[in-house]
Amino acid sequence: MTFLSKLFKFGSRNMAIDLGTANTLVYVDGEGIVLNEPSVVAIETINGIKRVKAVGDDAKMMMGKTPDSIETIRPLRDGVIADLDWAEEMIKEFIRKVNGRKTSMFRPPEITICVPSGSTSVERRAIRDAASNAGASQVYLILEPMAAAIGADMPVTEPVGSMVVDIGGGTTEVAVLSLRGLAYATSVRTGGDKMDESIVSYVRRHHNLLIGESTAERIKRDYGVAMAPEDGIGEIITIKGRDLVNGVPKEITINQGHIAEALAEPIGAIVEGVRIALENTAPELAADIVDQGIVLTGGGALIKGLDVHLREETGLPVSVAEDPLSCVAIGTGRAMEDPIYRGVLMTA
Ligand code: ADP
Ligand code: MG
Repeated sequence: MTFLSKLFKFGSRNMAIDLGTANTLVYVDGEGIVLNEPSVVAIETINGIKRVKAVGDDAKMMMGKTPDSIETIRPLRDGVIADLDWAEEMIKEFIRKVNGRKTSMFRPPEITICVPSGSTSVERRAIRDAASNAGASQVYLILEPMAAAIGADMPVTEPVGSMVVDIGGGTTEVAVLSLRGLAYATSVRTGGDKMDESIVSYVRRHHNLLIGESTAERIKRDYGVAMAPEDGIGEIITIKGRDLVNGVPKEITINQGHIAEALAEPIGAIVEGVRIALENTAPELAADIVDQGIVLTGGGALIKGLDVHLREETGLPVSVAEDPLSCVAIGTGRAMEDPIYRGVLMTA
């Protein structure tokens, strides 16, 4: 190997990207996860021209607090790619962050990026093009539930059926995997965002209090429960917001039983998605799932008691992956690094 090719090999930094509706994670070949930031872009308009003001953590801090000249968006929020151009800018910015200022010397990286199982070929091409435009020499795609399952150490290469439920911000993906492929997949448009919205509307309906989505998300993370606590109350929660009647700031208290009530609808939609998937699974694979159980990944898997609730609803063993927020990135990274998973990568 010549000096130059060694340098180029060393400098290639192939990347795996989990482009999530809530968070983007970047995994670098041989290093692991090197970036983990919210999928948020702050856009500034000056003299009618829009440009990126900030991405990731910096942009999320501005959410709900920006002056008129700046807006914050989540380019993937409501679908696969709700806003392609800004999604591309965001990917570019994250890749730039990962590479630091060294990039120009190096051969452009190969990028493996995950796409939702229900995405159309047009949407997949859009994601692939965004990664190419962001500087990739070659782009590989992997289906998100497959990545989640690999990241959760599930036996995806074996002739054994297993079910993964990846609960992200915008969507929940339910899939049955066997022999490097998806035997069944469905996507439910309910995830962490819907849970936040349910808390916002619960507090509005019952207390005439207006709270922002960031506040609702914090409440969900700290106190969210899938089932009412045993005493029906659990912990007491103090919430600050704006009174809808007289417009002034006000503070109220609710309890975890109320949160369980608020979350019942979005969680019910996720349970329904699992039930539909089970009904549509071939008998041999369904029999495997009885043994293997269901594995939960994604940030929504961290809602307390969700595993127990799903176990009660389905009668099947349910477990939460070790690091649910990182599963997809880890699985995408492993698929890129380990030849045993080569068959799961796609080029278009
Ligand atoms: P995506 O893949 O769509 O980007 P993630 O898997 O990163 O989504 O999960 C993000 C979602 O998980 C957000 O809605 C976030 O509020 C939620 N979340 C993160 N941590 C927790 C927690 N401890 N409890 C409940 N929900 C959580
Ligand atoms: Mg995800």
